[in-house]
Amino acid sequence: MEFHGALVASPGMGHAVPVLELGKRLLSHHGFDRVTVFLVTDDVSRSKSLIGKTLMEEEEDPKFVIRFIQLDVSGQDLTGSLLTKLAEMMRKAIPHIRSAVVELELKPSVFVVDLLGTEALVVAKELEIKKTYVLVTTSAWFLALTVYMASLDKETLYKHLYINGALLIPGCSPVKFDRVQDPSNYARELAESQRIGLEVVTVDGVFVNTCDSLEPVTIRSFLDSEKLGRVMRGVPVYPVGPLVRPAEPDLKHEVLDWLDLQPKQSVVYVSFGSGGALTAEQTMELAYGLEMTGHRFVWVVRPPAEDDPSASMFDKATNQAEPLGFLPYGFLDRTKDIGFVVRTWAPQEEILAHEATGGFVSHCGWNSVLESIVNGVPMIAWPLYSEQKMNAWLVSEELKIAARVDVGNGVVKKEEIVEVVKRVMDEEEGKEMRKNVMELKMKTAEEAVMKLTTPQADYFTQN
Ligand code: UDP
Repeated sequence: MEFHGALVASPGMGHAVPVLELGKRLLSHHGFDRVTVFLVTDDVSRSKSLIGKTLMEEEEDPKFVIRFIQLDVSGQDLTGSLLTKLAEMMRKAIPHIRSAVVELELKPSVFVVDLLGTEALVVAKELEIKKTYVLVTTSAWFLALTVYMASLDKETLYKHLYINGALLIPGCSPVKFDRVQDPSNYARELAESQRIGLEVVTVDGVFVNTCDSLEPVTIRSFLDSEKLGRVMRGVPVYPVGPLVRPAEPDLKHEVLDWLDLQPKQSVVYVSFGSGGALTAEQTMELAYGLEMTGHRFVWVVRPPAEDDPSASMFDKATNQAEPLGFLPYGFLDRTKDIGFVVRTWAPQEEILAHEATGGFVSHCGWNSVLESIVNGVPMIAWPLYSEQKMNAWLVSEELKIAARVDVGNGVVKKEEIVEVVKRVMDEEEGKEMRKNVMELKMKTAEEAVMKLTTPQADYFTQN
């Protein structure tokens, strides 16, 4: 019997990338004969262009099929946090996912969704697909937070969030919460998050894009039936990471040509992921800050957004504005010998893998964190939304591979940007971070090899 996996990724490159990588892994190392990946998106042509040549332009491989599920979000209430928006989109996608799975000529025996798509597990149930799994495209710590919050009654949870300001999760670091600005939006977000936490513990297993060297304590807590193991109600958690798209060695891009001309580890790469947007004032301040450091830089510049730091994810108006028009007068001219500005989207994996790249100013999306680590690049952590503050804490306080920007007081001033870049690029502290991240690079690489060379991990039962 042929063994077929159907994988579903919720909108956004941060979900598509690890789901695609997991799909490849199922074929290469877990005995799957066929994998179909469904990518939910509100803009197929944009998603296609971002996913890149290697996957989209080759002859379609009948064993590894990618299908887009196009959603029309016009008229949809896309207010609220990113989590609420994405959950709403995934809800709308369920009938489309169902018909796409029904149309497959070979019925899947394994169904995998990412954490934001757990509501689509209903499709697997209806179609009697044997095994269901969730892929967590972020940290084990975030999974811990999600399932633990869902296990608490409302009163206890609200006490933690509103009174204590921190949630003590069994067997891993506590999570601090910001002061709630908008209780109605927050209630919606909390309800979605609790629903997800309850749905996660109904599957056959949970894959997390992490590994022991990054989150040893949290991973151990999932194995402990007195700690997070209890919260998971016996559902196994598999740290399968890092699932990272490998850099394409022959990729042609002008930014890579420019990097070829720069000294080793001299360039600071600045990018806020696929959704991150700064305000106009912050964009100006960052430009002045970069200029004042005197360091070489590559900056992926986005059009600003005033009230939504995740605006670039869906806002077509923001995406279509000309980003360079928001830079200070004369900036491009003054920095032409030390800086390279890329509009909107850059080949990040290839930039981080380039030997000229010496530091990464990042919003700390989990994929960016992993990509920085597998390439041994220390970070300047500048979180914007979602769980990025947790990731920033992990890389700065726990792994000690990043210096953190203080984003608590509105606009980050140019002087602070200079200081934090210098800490990583010039000072002893930065050398230590570089050493730590190089060690982590080696350890995660060893773990990845172990995972691939030991007899197939027993995640799936094929009968
Ligand atoms: N990415 C990229 N070029 C860009 C911005 C992002 O290739 O200009 C990729 C990046 O390498 C990563 C993904 O998009 O694989 C973003 O995921 P992440 O979790 O870092 O952040 P998110 O976009 O989900 O906030």
